[in-house]
Amino acid sequence: MDNSKIKRYTVTAALPYTNGPVHIGHLAGVYIPADIYARYLRSNKRDVKFICGSDENGVPITLKAKREGITPQEVVDKYHKIIGDSFKEFGVSFDIYHRTSSQTHHQTASDFFKTLYDKGVFTEEVTEQYYDPSAKQFLADRYITGTCPKCGNENAYGDQCENCGSTLNATDLINPKSTLSGDQPILKETKNWFLPLDQYEERLRTYIESHKEWRPNVYGQCQSWLNAGLQPRAMTRDLDWGVRVPLRDAEGKVLYVWFDAPIGYISATKELCNYAKLDVWNPKAEEYYINNFDSDKCGWEEYWKSDETKLVHFIGKDNIVFHCIIFPAMLMAHGDYTLADNVPANEFLNLEGQKISTSKNWAVWLNEYLREFEGKQDVLRYVLTATAPETKDNDFTWKDFQARNNNELVAILGNFVNRVMVLTHKYFNGSVPTCMEITPVDQAVIDELASYPAKISASIENYRFREALSEVMNVARLGNKYLAETEPWKLIKTDEDRVRTILHLSLQIAANIQVLIEPFLPFTAEKLMNMLKNGGNDWEDAGSVNLIKRGHDIGEAVLLFEKIEDAEIDFQIAKLNQSKSTNAANNAVVTPAKENINFDDFSALDIRVATITAAEKVEKTKKLLKLTVNTGLDERTVVSGIAEYYKPEEIIGQQVSLLVNLAPREIKGILSQGMILMAENSEGKLTFVSPAEKFEVGSVIR
Ligand SMILES: [Zn+2]
Repeated sequence: MDNSKIKRYTVTAALPYTNGPVHIGHLAGVYIPADIYARYLRSNKRDVKFICGSDENGVPITLKAKREGITPQEVVDKYHKIIGDSFKEFGVSFDIYHRTSSQTHHQTASDFFKTLYDKGVFTEEVTEQYYDPSAKQFLADRYITGTCPKCGNENAYGDQCENCGSTLNATDLINPKSTLSGDQPILKETKNWFLPLDQYEERLRTYIESHKEWRPNVYGQCQSWLNAGLQPRAMTRDLDWGVRVPLRDAEGKVLYVWFDAPIGYISATKELCNYAKLDVWNPKAEEYYINNFDSDKCGWEEYWKSDETKLVHFIGKDNIVFHCIIFPAMLMAHGDYTLADNVPANEFLNLEGQKISTSKNWAVWLNEYLREFEGKQDVLRYVLTATAPETKDNDFTWKDFQARNNNELVAILGNFVNRVMVLTHKYFNGSVPTCMEITPVDQAVIDELASYPAKISASIENYRFREALSEVMNVARLGNKYLAETEPWKLIKTDEDRVRTILHLSLQIAANIQVLIEPFLPFTAEKLMNMLKNGGNDWEDAGSVNLIKRGHDIGEAVLLFEKIEDAEIDFQIAKLNQSKSTNAANNAVVTPAKENINFDDFSALDIRVATITAAEKVEKTKKLLKLTVNTGLDERTVVSGIAEYYKPEEIIGQQVSLLVNLAPREIKGILSQGMILMAENSEGKLTFVSPAEKFEVGSVIR
């Protein structure tokens, strides 16, 4: 898009789904880059609306509500608050954080659908879907479980088997069951409305191909969707939670969540621009929605329906098709609307070498981070930007987090600012000294400083935030290098005027950093502003050495960053390992229960406490140990398949449970008299079942 034509920006960040809190993967993938971009635009005095909100519709929310025994509304209220608070605390500067359960959204999405319907855009199709007669409702895929036809897992879902990872159709399941009633569902006809994406294929191709500047991952994914050929896609669902389909013959149907969610950007803009007129607004409860509302500018349509508006969607790579194919097709079908100028989707962030997983609790949750690293929001913002998965998946590790804090934020940025502050207080009572004669060394620093803003701007405007941040850090490096070369602490005894110039220019560098770092580390910029007691500069001022005036009194020096100790990192790693072992326990595939037996069957078993008195490997076998056990009744030989788990010398004296009246049998030429009871976990690992304390041999187990 021709930059000179742009009058305003609409910047959207993917609507987080309200069935859980947000983690670092979300922050790195979407919200930090979007926030950097929005803050940068504001610092450049551009007209920008930064839009987000909670995505509160769809099946996972109804499932979560059912599981927790609360209503879907209670689920979304809870997470809307948690997520909204996390964003606010991390300084994500949305102009509005809206929600798709709002009346404005329901009305907007409903009107949008109706417009497409009235234009004859949709095709109607009758299909057979599973229906639960006793619950009187059609069953979304996740409401159906059954046996996986591929691996035999009895708890596969209607869309996927989590055991073997196969993608399934609900009708593939053997013995399907409704999770609502436990009954077998029946197939019943239902009508839904489809968006014929195939009819938009050529227009979409023209649109996508006019954006060869998009990131290769985004452009490539769009191309492969288009090349595979687009199919009509249902835009309605048989469900009771969501935006109701605004048609007379659509009882019990709601809009497909990916139809209504992107419209959430539009409804949020509407709410932002018109909120003063709405009587549903509750400023007290929703206080964190509004950051810098500009009441002079009303008229949401300018932000969505103008050639002079640049629309940018920040999303994760899993949402590319919805933002680059389906939503643009919806907007084309509607007419009137502007299409996105860019969709800078990030790849995924992994954590300690593994995919972040909500269900496995393999994540760093923002609300927990805030408790454990109080006041260190910018450290996380820094690390997540410096390692952002812009072009490929990337890994977050706690060791790297610590190293970047200690070696970069503390040692480079914090160190420079601290030295300038301390020296200015020490030599000039905290008053900005006058710039005296400029030497070639000074001039070189002035020239280099002047080159940064344009470089950083170019990176940000091309959505290369890692690169932009590293250039900002280079400004601090420039400052450190300047101090190291000029050594004002030595010169002060011989040439005070020279020191005046050096500290004057160093303070200018610090004031430049305050402006340039603000989009990335807003809390640090604010601290710097309070230290220098110098606000009011923005992006167009940066690059100059007139940001802070001579004679101006600076404030107290405080440390911008603190060293992070090993113990804090060890704690985080231990916490993750805890999740790992909990997962292993929770994910264990439990062997199905056996048929009931009566008490006589059980009491026929003679199980005793016995002690192992001797053990040796059975030759030419991997698994077998020959054990001598004292049963209290006698000493006898038992062959046991535990050699992979226990070494003979380790188990002498070990007490075990022994089934003593099992008919003797010969194993590898040895007569085995009884069986030692072992517990076996899902991975086939064995462990002894022993009395909880040293116990008399021969004691009966019953
Ligand atoms: Zn399976």
